[in-house]
Amino acid sequence: MSDFAGERARDVIRAEIRQMSGYQVPDAAGMIKLDAMENPYHFPPELRARLGERLAAVAINRYPVPTYTALKAAICERLGVPAGFDVILGNGSDELITLLTVAAARPGASIVAPVPAFVMYELSARLASVRFVGVALAPDFSLDLPATLAAIERERPALVYLGYPNNPTGNLYDDAAIEAVVRAAPGAVVIDEAYQPFAQASWMSRLPEFGHLLVMRTVSKLGLAGIRLGYLAAAPAWLEQLEKLRPPYNVNVLTESAAMFALEHLDVLERQAAQLRADRDALAVRLAALGGVEVFASQANFVLIRVAGAAALWRALLERKVLVKDVGRMHPLLADCLRLTVGTPQENAAMVAALEQAMAAARRVHPIQVSDARKAP
Ligand code: PMP
Repeated sequence: MSDFAGERARDVIRAEIRQMSGYQVPDAAGMIKLDAMENPYHFPPELRARLGERLAAVAINRYPVPTYTALKAAICERLGVPAGFDVILGNGSDELITLLTVAAARPGASIVAPVPAFVMYELSARLASVRFVGVALAPDFSLDLPATLAAIERERPALVYLGYPNNPTGNLYDDAAIEAVVRAAPGAVVIDEAYQPFAQASWMSRLPEFGHLLVMRTVSKLGLAGIRLGYLAAAPAWLEQLEKLRPPYNVNVLTESAAMFALEHLDVLERQAAQLRADRDALAVRLAALGGVEVFASQANFVLIRVAGAAALWRALLERKVLVKDVGRMHPLLADCLRLTVGTPQENAAMVAALEQAMAAARRVHPIQVSDARKAP
């Protein structure tokens, strides 16, 4: 039976999908979870109780009203979408990336993005049989502008993605370099502002300057990763087309209601983001003080570090019940890099202590490695 199922699946499922490995999400039960850029805080108890009442009143027996007019209006008003522009909602910005890719997937189409970047740009392209062209960042993770412009000229991509700040490097690209990319791009340029609450910089207000600029955001990092809601702001001409691809009920009624509630209490989430920004900077200082750790400046709610023997240290952290992200094999520029989400001060302290212990243990086993790490590029 399973042989038959396997054979039939091999016949039906496209080769490029069979060759892929699924997105790995490790079990975080009992761990200090600092791998996925979640906000460690919740609403305070009194607001949680009110959210509970609000959700209890939602008509879960009904489909959502698929226009989502009130939620979209609240997002536009509260989150700075310029007049004359609107948003399309996604089940997370992951879904918006899929919609964009499918919309652009005509034969011969390509997508260009600097790499390393968020993996979904490439993954969604592969799933839609669209050519993905990654342009390596400079070693300091700034945009390699000549190479990016050359790729745009050569590929004439339907879509260009720019993370602002970029994941997993955490930096903001130079605005003049972004503008040069936008001016050169023959298709759409999607500025992915998933980490905007921690960067306090945005291209949203510049939407009216460029008809082919789209700004994508998510509420995930702000504190609502579990509800799955992303939004893409663009001129109506883009949204009109993209709406045709959107599954009509892609945002469920509980998400819709919780998002409305969160927008009414945005000040709470913004205070949490401010706390996380301050804690990020404090964490960067503590990490740099460890010695042998190269810390990259971050405008996001995570810090990228380079440290000799990162893969082994990742396992050692896991044994100490701290889950971070080993990005060392994602791209050659990230060799020996770990991505550390900013948690509560207690979680950050526990993570730094675990890292320090793991490094000390590694030094006892391989005394030479640590001096090598200081020379790491
Ligand atoms: N864009 C970037 C740059 C990200 O890092 C992420 C999540 N890691 C997303 C988009 C997707 O966010 P979500 O699907 O939770 O909205």
